[in-house]
Amino acid sequence: MRLSLILVGLFFNASLSFAQVPKKKYQGQGGVQEVNTSPRPIQQQYQSTFAFEDADIYISNEFDGARLNGALMKEDTLMVWITPENAPINPSPWYAFKIWSGEPKEALVKFTYQNAKHRYFPKLSHDGKNWQPLDSANYQEFNKGEADFGPNSLPQSVVIKLSLNSDTLWVAGQELQTSQHIFAWIDSLSQQSYISHADIGESRLGRPMRSVKISEAKREDKIVFVFGRQHPPEVTGWLAMKAFVETLTGDSKLAKKFRKEYTTYVVPLMNPDGADLGHWRHSAGGVDLNRDWSQFHHPETRAVRDFLRNKTAEGAKLYFGIDFHSTWDDIYYTLDSVSVTNTPGLMAEWLSSIESNIPDYEINAKGSVNATGVSKNFLFREFGAESLVYEVGDNTPRPFVQQKGEVAAEQLMRLLLDRE
Ligand SMILES: [Zn+2]
Repeated sequence: MRLSLILVGLFFNASLSFAQVPKKKYQGQGGVQEVNTSPRPIQQQYQSTFAFEDADIYISNEFDGARLNGALMKEDTLMVWITPENAPINPSPWYAFKIWSGEPKEALVKFTYQNAKHRYFPKLSHDGKNWQPLDSANYQEFNKGEADFGPNSLPQSVVIKLSLNSDTLWVAGQELQTSQHIFAWIDSLSQQSYISHADIGESRLGRPMRSVKISEAKREDKIVFVFGRQHPPEVTGWLAMKAFVETLTGDSKLAKKFRKEYTTYVVPLMNPDGADLGHWRHSAGGVDLNRDWSQFHHPETRAVRDFLRNKTAEGAKLYFGIDFHSTWDDIYYTLDSVSVTNTPGLMAEWLSSIESNIPDYEINAKGSVNATGVSKNFLFREFGAESLVYEVGDNTPRPFVQQKGEVAAEQLMRLLLDRE
């Protein structure tokens, strides 16, 4: 039995809909096809506060990261309509809104999606910072498929019951993490003398592509590159990256030694427009950025490409690249085993040492060959780096996300120093 699946049930207060064991692993990156990544138009979200005065319910999408495309009162239920920025698009139906009433009352809210089924178990917050999953007693699914774990087993719709009053209640698919949150985290890290940040470009809509540098090395000749959030709703990937980076920046002897040898660059928010606009998956250029790493039609991927090219032109060598994402389950998408890198065998050693340093944990890893448009293949193809996509389950318990991120960073530091 895999630990992550057992803990899912605990985190969600024994919510049966999330505690099921997958019958078949969902296929992801292994089968990525090359697609044309030329820019495509996106549908702008109409931002408003919808007032249902007869029912005394108010609902708003007027904040960064919001997604609420329409609302309608039907008998005693508030129907919320959630649509993607464009289509086709993969089933990552992000939602986030604020809701309140004049007098204390309970409200039923039904989610209706275009091009998707319900995916993210609702999270609630009273301040937009601290989040808790909805009590599963207040959650009901409709038309749930009987198929395997993955998109086919998701419900067409759900109805949730909320307790409202005049204080704003935030409802979102995952903990809300916009550019504001991530840049604030960068500012707090940058208090350390060995951490600095710089903007390496701009997104399509002019938001900064911000890069963090972690180093106490005399020469910047050995580089590790950490990045994430190409796909805005993949918040658990961001939480894992945060734990990973905070381990590299920590006070341990290992981290201090590592920083004297290796320079780490982190671009924690690859898609700041998408995150702030409440996108399901795409950039403001209307595409999946993690298909653009061979065509480079987009300023976000070009910023990283040019940054790393400049570093390597100055004589640095890229040893390791890690791209954080979220999906149905915890998976490591690696290179195939025949790829010859700057540090042969590092990935396999790293994965097995993560496994042996987390009790009862079994690594789920998949290699892939033909995925030219994805980031890890670019890092290998152009720089010879060991690289991977680190996928964290949508419902992986947050303490376990943290633990895995910490252990992954510790083992990487140890193994890279062992190769000195
Ligand atoms: Zn992703």
